[in-house]
Amino acid sequence: MIAVVGSLNLDLVVPVPGHPVPGETVLGGDIALHPGGKGANQAVAAARLGGNAALVGRIGEDGAAGVLLDAVREEGVDTTHIARTPGVPTGRALIAVDPAGENSIIVSPGANSRLGAADCEAAEDLLRKAAVTVLQQEVPDEANHAAARLAGGIVLHNPAPAVAGAVPPPHVDLLVPNRTELAALSGRPVPETVEDVVAAARGLTWAAAVTVTLGGDGVLLLEGASHLHIPAFPVRPVDTTAAGDSFCGALAVALAEGRTLEEAVRWACAAAAISTTRAGAQPSLARRDEVEAFLAR
Ligand code: ADP
Repeated sequence: MIAVVGSLNLDLVVPVPGHPVPGETVLGGDIALHPGGKGANQAVAAARLGGNAALVGRIGEDGAAGVLLDAVREEGVDTTHIARTPGVPTGRALIAVDPAGENSIIVSPGANSRLGAADCEAAEDLLRKAAVTVLQQEVPDEANHAAARLAGGIVLHNPAPAVAGAVPPPHVDLLVPNRTELAALSGRPVPETVEDVVAAARGLTWAAAVTVTLGGDGVLLLEGASHLHIPAFPVRPVDTTAAGDSFCGALAVALAEGRTLEEAVRWACAAAAISTTRAGAQPSLARRDEVEAFLAR
């Protein structure tokens, strides 16, 4: 069992000719609605890869809540621990995309911001039994700390997005930042070279192991005094949205199946590479048979 503690957002995507400056109104194209949120994306990523995934989260009582609940349920995610918050809107992300593909995003966390320690305590049975508990930073630190404390298995923390002032749990088994998130956690500039990444990750002694995702450059895996560079699979990416979510979900599945960290990272790189070849967040996430076929090429 994989327990994901995290956010559910309805993504509202509007194409715009250019991003508005303060005081300006721009007319955009037709709006598209997509289920999103890092918690939901990672739970769906795990479920699609054959993981037995459950999501601990909060939604409101509005129309968006039903859309998001149906979306994760249809993927086979256990929704028992998704609670309703009366009088608070479901999380939404307002995303404007210009013709160059540049995004500007406003996230209104809504119900996600009400997830607390009590929600994790209510899910104690799940968290104790889960082989892997997966955390991110779109819900309050308090929820992540409680989940890490109650987790009976591996705690995987993806410190995304890089929120200023976020306090990660005092101990995690596996930390999965990208370069920007590593910079935020280490208080250093965004690392450019392998040496920079190693130096920044080494300071994070509260994490037993660190896998730094480097986009098309793959992953740097640090465990104890050793580090290993695992290259990305060569693909033609069309949209790297949710590559990190795909990677985290896949890593959780592989670790829950008892693979070594190095094997798990390679497998997760394959799942993430596939996701970059398709548009969107949840629609791009790979299925298990696709990963097996990709690796057997
Ligand atoms: P995030 O989306 O969190 O910024 P990254 O961009 O580092 O995360 O991507 C996560 C993982 O997805 C990478 O470690 C890599 O395995 C895979 N990936 C991302 N971009 C590419 C790419 N262009 N080609 C192949 N794999 C990629």
